Amino acid sequence: MKLQTAINDAYQNLKNNNIKSALLDSELLMANVLKKSREHIVLNLDKDIDKKDYDNFQNMVHQRSEGKPIAYLINKKSFWKYEFYVNEHVLIPRPDTELIIEQVLKLYQNKNKINFLDIGFGSGCILLSILKERQNFKGTGVDVSNYALKVCEINAFKLGIKNRLKLYNSNIDKFKIGKYDLIISNPPYIKILDLNYLEKDVKNFEPKLALDGGLDGISEIRKVIRKSSELIKYGGKLILEIEYNQTQEVKNLLKKNSFYVNSVVKDLAKNDRCIISTKI
Ligand code: GLN
Repeated sequence: MKLQTAINDAYQNLKNNNIKSALLDSELLMANVLKKSREHIVLNLDKDIDKKDYDNFQNMVHQRSEGKPIAYLINKKSFWKYEFYVNEHVLIPRPDTELIIEQVLKLYQNKNKINFLDIGFGSGCILLSILKERQNFKGTGVDVSNYALKVCEINAFKLGIKNRLKLYNSNIDKFKIGKYDLIISNPPYIKILDLNYLEKDVKNFEPKLALDGGLDGISEIRKVIRKSSELIKYGGKLILEIEYNQTQEVKNLLKKNSFYVNSVVKDLAKNDRCIISTKI
């Protein structure tokens, strides 16, 4: 069978299952099975596919048709300037989260050395992207998931980051190590009752642990703010990713915990997404 035919069949199948990016996904899965780039696939559609590869491809297309995200099928996702290894134990990096990296780079343009903490690092996409950008920064990460720790270690290895990184597997409530110039976090912030209304790819496949913000959606944010208030230096900055409708509640929490709110940054869809504050 020609690649073209296999990809067309997959495209129809995914389209019939309401997968939005049916063609792109089919090409990406084929690229992954054949261990080639997507460009290579598109330029070689007249080539034949052998039986073993075809079976493999069919299997992946089937999983995709059931909603399994492409990033989990091919075990990678691009974020910022890098490609991260991901699996079902970590949230798939979202483009909106790149806001945090932009803000950190802007705020610390003229600072050479800082010590920062990422609470709930997951794949490590935020923590490691910052470390890649700024060679003199030191990063610490804490995550309640030991699986996430393994994923982050793989990514640190792939990106060649060794000495400037410390990772801990711990519940944030129990974490007591260090004093930081900067704390960043993209904690779980979806209301437990809203989890059911997320897209099925997210709802059925991404880790609840990374999404579930409790009944009010801000239970984890609350913990992060309280803990950050202990772990941060005076004058240090806290940068949080939030849901668009949590701005006021989070601002109040920050004030209660002696943070001054500097700014709220909007994402690409013009929704509040990131809140920057200073410990006073
Ligand atoms: N932004 C993510 C989503 O919409 C949620 C991430 C989080 O809870 N931190 O799926």
